[in-house]
Amino acid sequence: MPVAELGSIMAQGSQDFDLVIIGAGPAGSAAAVTARRAGLTVALIDKARFPRDKLCGGLVSGRSLKALERIFGTRPSRDLFLVTRQMKFAWAGEELAQFRAPHELWLTMRCDFDHVLFQAALEAGVADFTGQRWDVLDESQNRITLKDGQNLSFRGLIGADGATSPVAAQLFGRAFDPALVGFGIESECPRDAADPAVTVVDFGASKWGYGWYFPKQGSLTVGVCGLQTQNPDWKATLSAFMPEGVEGQRMKGALLPFGDFRRKPGRGNMLLVGDAAGLVDSLTGEGIAFALESGAMAAEAVVQALAKGKPDTAAKTYFRALKGIHSELARVGKLRQIVFSERFEPMFREKLKNSKRLRQVFFDLIEGDLTYLELEKMIAGGVLSRLGKGIAGWWPGRD
Ligand SMILES: Cc1cc2nc3c(=O)[nH]c(=O)nc-3n(C[C@H](O)[C@H](O)[C@H](O)COP(=O)(O)OP(=O)(O)OC[C@H]3O[C@@H](n4cnc5c(N)ncnc54)[C@H](O)[C@@H]3O)c2cc1C
Repeated sequence: MPVAELGSIMAQGSQDFDLVIIGAGPAGSAAAVTARRAGLTVALIDKARFPRDKLCGGLVSGRSLKALERIFGTRPSRDLFLVTRQMKFAWAGEELAQFRAPHELWLTMRCDFDHVLFQAALEAGVADFTGQRWDVLDESQNRITLKDGQNLSFRGLIGADGATSPVAAQLFGRAFDPALVGFGIESECPRDAADPAVTVVDFGASKWGYGWYFPKQGSLTVGVCGLQTQNPDWKATLSAFMPEGVEGQRMKGALLPFGDFRRKPGRGNMLLVGDAAGLVDSLTGEGIAFALESGAMAAEAVVQALAKGKPDTAAKTYFRALKGIHSELARVGKLRQIVFSERFEPMFREKLKNSKRLRQVFFDLIEGDLTYLELEKMIAGGVLSRLGKGIAGWWPGRD
């Protein structure tokens, strides 16, 4: 660093915080609110000013809604969402089943949703450093320098900076192997408010993933996701999936970090949460619930470490807390090898069409009422009881 620049930083001095959080998405805001509630001083940095957009289907699962209630003390107003139960399963454009979902589906625009969470963090008393990136993260001095030269010193730091996390890059070279994770691409299409609000999930729209039509209050989010390696041309995949008569829409894609996650996302007093830690379900593509949960866990770990006067123990406490999420993600990683394999495709398709039980399982997982561990046990029980009767009815049991 040039001497003049160093001089200007030293002249500015440093503002001291217990916790600095980088990234004010769901993970960062959840961490901020949790830490403030425990009395820590918190600085929240984001390169964007809020409200800001975030590429996302915007399906806020029941599991997310429960996490919001726990962490923020309330769920955001229903007005922010289109709430529906009308559901359709499809396969490469062919309708398999239309039905009423067993749980409500809450669909929102992330621009509005994230803004509400960020506002809650501000109301909880975080210091607002949004609208700029950071420049230097000095691990040995526990200090971060922002692009405008301000220095913030901290006792704990949380990297909640998303799928391309610069904090993860600094700590580990990269957040995860991009060749192993997923990708999602979307287009925001017009929607007539009088049209029925049917949520469509099409498991044949892409490889090792799915396509969606998610109705919102003022638009229809059309998207496809899947494994990067299995889908060589994302624009072509999304074009083939667009509703009839909708053409020339803008497409936007982003990494969807499922499939590879770091068992120890952080070290000492620096922790990674949400997408930065690769916490996305590789079957459903859901990441908001894990972002909220891990953000709160990391903040709690910092609170405990500071209370003991041992900031460097935060990572160890956080890794322990994360074990439940990690084992679920590892289980779903194995399950998807079966669900998406060509061998099981005809059976999976048939079940999507006819099995009320499969629908219940699918929505209970999203709702957070069923874990992959419980599903694994159901499958194991089903296989055992059907040994000798053929494998066809094994998953997730006959109706
Ligand atoms: C196409 C697509 C569809 C999806 N659909 C769904 C869905 O329907 N439901 C669901 O649950 N999940 C969905 N996900 C996943 C979900 O979007 C993420 O898991 C979730 O946003 C993770 O939250 P986060 O807070 O960890 O990160 P983010 O929401 O990405 O927030 C990270 C924040 O960090 C900031 N940041 C980045 N770099 C810097 C920097 N250098 N300095 C300062 N700030 C920085 C960003 O501006 C951003 O505000 C989808 C993802 C994709 C790509």
